[in-house]
Amino acid sequence: MTRYISTPSRTKEILETYGLRARKGYGQNFLVDPVIVEKCALASHCQDAVIEIGPGIGGLTEQLARHSRHVTAYEVDEDLIPVLADTLKDYDNVEIILQDFLESDLEGKLAELEKAYGTVTVCANLPYYITTPVLFKLFEYPEIPYITVMVQKEVGDRFAAKPKDSAYSALSVEAQFLYDVKKLFTVPGRSFNPSPNVDSVIVQFARKETDLRKEEIRAFYEMVRACFKQRRKTLYNNLKEYLQDKEKAEEALNACGIPLSLRAQEADTGMLYRVFEEIRK
Ligand code: SAM
Repeated sequence: MTRYISTPSRTKEILETYGLRARKGYGQNFLVDPVIVEKCALASHCQDAVIEIGPGIGGLTEQLARHSRHVTAYEVDEDLIPVLADTLKDYDNVEIILQDFLESDLEGKLAELEKAYGTVTVCANLPYYITTPVLFKLFEYPEIPYITVMVQKEVGDRFAAKPKDSAYSALSVEAQFLYDVKKLFTVPGRSFNPSPNVDSVIVQFARKETDLRKEEIRAFYEMVRACFKQRRKTLYNNLKEYLQDKEKAEEALNACGIPLSLRAQEADTGMLYRVFEEIRK
């Protein structure tokens, strides 16, 4: 019977064989629950090509290799490269790239993978210290239909929060403007080696259709961040400061039928986008 890399006993064996210790600085927590790992891979729509950020010792990579045509995995820790060459030796559809994902040429890689395999999705158990920059790098590419990532529960809550939730923020609006964001399932701390004190959640971002250009999306994001700058202030007060123009802010909100007393915390993505369109007129 196959003993997958993500079984607790095999992970322990691999770590011992290579004298490895999870490196905190790289956000290393290895998943040791084969059921969750396979569930995550299966939920990720990884049929053609899939990109993974941070394969670690290969637990999730293995399941992605089983369920897709090709896996590209970026790993920053050079000590893990010989380990992965060994743990994944039975899979000939995996390419490991030793590189900081944030510095990688994603545009070039996506073009190459699309040409060779078709649709490219992303599935990863993200290192917690760079969750947001990794996601924002991925958000730049509308050709990725699904991004399925394991993140700390609190971070997942922020991405998926709805207006009036305490976790609702600029981050929620930015993500939900481009994606349907769904929390798929919670993963308890005990499913990792070493176990963190916090639970994690698997979040899926499904890209929505939009014909907006990158620059327009960036400009919208800039306005959204400004609208949430001072959480206790009204949307009007934040907008006024952003525009440096009291009348323009008031007119824009009036034109959208938004009361001046509304706080950004209460405004949904559609409302904020209407304001954006109004101020650009
Ligand atoms: N995928 C493995 C698993 O689920 O067991 C390991 C996940 S662990 C939370 C995060 C992985 O990301 C580690 O292997 C770490 O070395 C790697 N990593 C950290 N920073 C990275 C970066 N900037 N680029 C690529 N990989 C990175």
